[in-house]
Amino acid sequence: MVKEKGPEHAHVVQQEEPKTPRESTKVKCKYCELVFIATATRIRAHLLGWTGSGVRACDKVPPVVTHQFEELEKEKEFKKQKVEQLDKLSSGEVVKPKKQSTLKATFSKQDCSKVDQLWGRAFYANGLSFRLAKDPHFKADVAAITNFGESYPGPLAVDRLRTTILEREKQLCRDGLASF
Ligand SMILES: [Zn+2]
Repeated sequence: MVKEKGPEHAHVVQQEEPKTPRESTKVKCKYCELVFIATATRIRAHLLGWTGSGVRACDKVPPVVTHQFEELEKEKEFKKQKVEQLDKLSSGEVVKPKKQSTLKATFSKQDCSKVDQLWGRAFYANGLSFRLAKDPHFKADVAAITNFGESYPGPLAVDRLRTTILEREKQLCRDGLASF
């Protein structure tokens, strides 16, 4: 049975068919025209800029394509972890919340610079003081979100900031006053 090709194959052109089954298929990237030996992992590594697969990062891939594959990888990792958790549950093992170390390790330095870019833009676009980056409340916020993980709904929904989060803070202040 011929294995169905993954979505990564839409971004490369297969070079000539291998003459023997043992010969590797070569593909050419549609964006930067690099020709390399194709495996699904290597094509993804090329598009995502991952190192370690022996193929260099694509410098012409549109960000939307990179994003699509990042989402796929996250989904894959998430499903893998879910399956592991369910396996443990069904075997009666106690499941502790797992740190997403594998997921973090999967993402390259390139992702770090993207996060930097997003933070930088938020500061520059709103004229935020660089002092904010040193502010202990702000640092605590960032650390809390990081520790909570992806399921945190975020404080950035304006309606929550204006209502529930604000009400709760007011209540805490009132309770604090009442204790004097
Ligand atoms: Zn390329």
